[in-house]
Amino acid sequence: MNIVIFGAPGSGKGTQSERLIDRYGLHHISTGELLRDHIARGTELGRVADSFISKGNLIPDELMLDILEHEFDAHPEVSGVIFDGFPRTIPQAEALNKMLEKRGSKVHAVVGLEVPEEELTQRLIKRGAESGRSDDNASTIAKRLDVYRRQTEPLKEYYNRRLAYYPVNGSGSIDQIFSAITSIVDPLKD
Ligand code: ATP
Ligand code: MG
Repeated sequence: MNIVIFGAPGSGKGTQSERLIDRYGLHHISTGELLRDHIARGTELGRVADSFISKGNLIPDELMLDILEHEFDAHPEVSGVIFDGFPRTIPQAEALNKMLEKRGSKVHAVVGLEVPEEELTQRLIKRGAESGRSDDNASTIAKRLDVYRRQTEPLKEYYNRRLAYYPVNGSGSIDQIFSAITSIVDPLKD
């Protein structure tokens, strides 16, 4: 079972993914975390990635796809994956379909965490004060939300047409949101 956890920056993808891997025994692939790990280790890739991330831009699709495919194939033993922060563009979604198809699988559901923009901004500013992330500051946050609207949000329609998009109210307590997600994912297991 492969699940995409979808939503704007600060929508809570990482938080809910942590819980989902426990409940369903899935492998978590967070592209944001993969990139931040490269930045922390000071790799060449990390240097390139940071030049995009700190400005609030997406990193180029080709580069992102290389990293994703490499990470996916590094874990052949897993029974399924939670994709967190990927895909973020239509070309990424198409590449993901192809990648999974080649391996005899598919995206089973895209769970969209829907949160009003004012709340996203507040959450990200709060996180920036604690995380030290180079992209959680006021001007970069506005830019990321703009990039989300233009490049990522069209994926809702893309997956809706494929009957795979499941919206969830992403404001509320972590528990409430998690239970809304499990009521979608539980029936997909069998
Ligand atoms: P959340 O708070 O919901 O976990 P987020 O947007 O704050 O989401 P990440 O998903 O960790 O954080 O992404 C951080 C940055 O990494 C993005 O703004 C982008 O620059 C880069 N990035 C992550 N995933 C992708 C991707 N699929 N394609 C291109 N760039 C990406
Ligand atoms: Mg995240």
